[in-house]
Amino acid sequence: MTDRIFNFNAGPAVLPLDILKQAQAELLNYRDTGMSILEISHRSKPYEVIHQEAEADMKALLGLGDNYRVLFVQGGGSLQFAMVPMNYLPAGRIADYILTGSWSEKALQEAKLLGQTHVAATTAGEGYRRIPSLQEIKLSDKPAYVHITSNNTIYGTQWREFPNFGDIPLMADMSSDMLSRPFDAKKFALIYAGAQKNLGPAGVTIVIIRKDLLDECPPTIPTMLRYDTYAKNDSMYNTPPCFSVYIVHLVLQWLRKNGGLAAMEKHNQEKAAFIYRQIDQSGGFYRGHAEPDSRSLMNITFRLPNEELEGAFVKEAVQAGLGGLKGYRTVGGIRASVYNAMSKEGCLALAAFMDEFRKKNS
Ligand code: PMP
Repeated sequence: MTDRIFNFNAGPAVLPLDILKQAQAELLNYRDTGMSILEISHRSKPYEVIHQEAEADMKALLGLGDNYRVLFVQGGGSLQFAMVPMNYLPAGRIADYILTGSWSEKALQEAKLLGQTHVAATTAGEGYRRIPSLQEIKLSDKPAYVHITSNNTIYGTQWREFPNFGDIPLMADMSSDMLSRPFDAKKFALIYAGAQKNLGPAGVTIVIIRKDLLDECPPTIPTMLRYDTYAKNDSMYNTPPCFSVYIVHLVLQWLRKNGGLAAMEKHNQEKAAFIYRQIDQSGGFYRGHAEPDSRSLMNITFRLPNEELEGAFVKEAVQAGLGGLKGYRTVGGIRASVYNAMSKEGCLALAAFMDEFRKKNS
């Protein structure tokens, strides 16, 4: 396949080529059903198998047992910003948010519409260049939960070590680094992640929820906005996004086949290092946005000496077969998203391009 570029888009993002090929091969006739997976009932056996295996594979990858459920929800990470407080911020309680970027701000905004909130830490004043230290976090008195964003897609920062607040439920938006490294999932009461970065296509959001939380969903909120509805109905209260779940299932199998999360972390560290090395060795030509100890392995953000050069970088990169490198408007500059499915070759190609571009323009 020579017509595919190295795709550094932030999401939807690159998917493993083998999975695209498998989906292509199975598209017209899914496993002798004589139908496409796009055309079969979500109540049929072939889809049921996909759905159940996806939940089981997700739990196996995260080392979770029977006290967790995996739910498939629509509405993206953005709907989770609202569903979390709708379900778990009762009147008279306070929800704590740790702000590390635009997406955590958006999560907070939704919670504010629904109840009382408290900002337990923020690095907004420093342009979200880093993750706060554990010592900086000041919780309110017995918060209903604490919400964090594990990886900040726009600023390019990532939590290294997750906080532990004992009995206080920890909830995380892991949209942009889910399954990119091993972590202790049992520390979390609820994790959500839109699939379109590390897990598959847009259209499905994975929610991993500890079972005891399912008893707390208020019956007064609409059925489709309650987590217990999804749990009781195996995420099939209504028609699920079958094709998206099918691709997620293939991605989970691909992850398991390729050594799971430990192997993925090694792969991601190696890849990101090629690019960070170019930043660090550029004598200031490339300036990373994130402070080194908060650097993301998924989204690498940096500036060039001026916007003109940044424009030229993006344009010439496209000509060199490297796409999707333009940074988000609030940070500017360049953003290279190097999710699980981005190959080592892609990162090496970007590093070589950066080296050449710097030599030519400095
Ligand atoms: N959280 C994070 C960390 C994100 O990066 C994004 C999307 N880029 C969202 C939430 C919002 O997700 P969605 O577009 O699926 O609503």
